[in-house]
Amino acid sequence: MNVPENAARCDHQNHKEAYRFGAAGLLRCEACGLVFVDMPRETPSPDLVYEKYYRNETAARFNFGIEYVIRLFRFFRAFKMFTVCPGARTIMDIGSGRGFMLYYLKKYYGYTRAAGIQISRNAVEFSRNRLGLEIYDKDLLELPLDNARFEVITMWHVLEHLTGPDKYIEKISGLLGERGKLIIEVPNFNSWTRVFTRGRWLSLDLKHHLTFFTPESLTLMLERHGFAVETVHTFSLEYSVFTSLQSIVSWLTNSDHDFFTWLQGGDFTPRIIFHSLLFVALSPLCFLINALLYFSKYGEVIFIVAGKKCGQPV
Ligand SMILES: [Zn+2]
Repeated sequence: MNVPENAARCDHQNHKEAYRFGAAGLLRCEACGLVFVDMPRETPSPDLVYEKYYRNETAARFNFGIEYVIRLFRFFRAFKMFTVCPGARTIMDIGSGRGFMLYYLKKYYGYTRAAGIQISRNAVEFSRNRLGLEIYDKDLLELPLDNARFEVITMWHVLEHLTGPDKYIEKISGLLGERGKLIIEVPNFNSWTRVFTRGRWLSLDLKHHLTFFTPESLTLMLERHGFAVETVHTFSLEYSVFTSLQSIVSWLTNSDHDFFTWLQGGDFTPRIIFHSLLFVALSPLCFLINALLYFSKYGEVIFIVAGKKCGQPV
């Protein structure tokens, strides 16, 4: 598909360095507020970065049965899609993980077409062979989906991994049906813990994250590409409390997300016990603060639902 040039597109060329974390600088577009990593000269291909993101044949990322908790969250995600778009029957999930949300939508919510895009080899094989899903293993921009139209397109914690998110939104606009919904969740660069934990903010993750959004800059980007934003909130049961806790514990102990690294299969050190106790002690406070910030602009994530503006070409 040829992505048409959009005259109203911000090219983010008018930017200044807004933050620096060691060798990495973050630039902020003066026109639209988008924050993005000042790219090093030789950027590894995304295929290389994400080849082993899901690390074995069951496409696991975590230890200790946490994969089952994540599966439960994927069930909630499917339920949330059902409540946001109750009549929808076709969906494309860009960055579909192992595919459990798509699997549940087909199994329990009457979806007739549940397609996903995933570039991690293990997750592709798991989704196709174990869950029987329609999975594309290329970057969205390389996919020949010219005639496809979906009622729902979702991107859960994907847009922040991309450089040049505008071209993805443009392509999505062409794949979405006239009354379709685009649903995006990303970390919120305006989050309350990002502001004071700075380089210790868990969602900074400069190994993987290349672009950062605020509710305003994401809304502006969607509007530039012909979308009308319908819902924005900044709370996620899956992400918010954990992100706040890990960021604050790392900040208090001047360490680098030891607990989270351990959950992903990292080494156990005695420090983990101390950090776990801090997690327990701080969790009621973090839950309360995040719940209070649900509809504010300062929670840990941005959840956004957008539809096409009337009169947009489909
Ligand atoms: Zn811009």
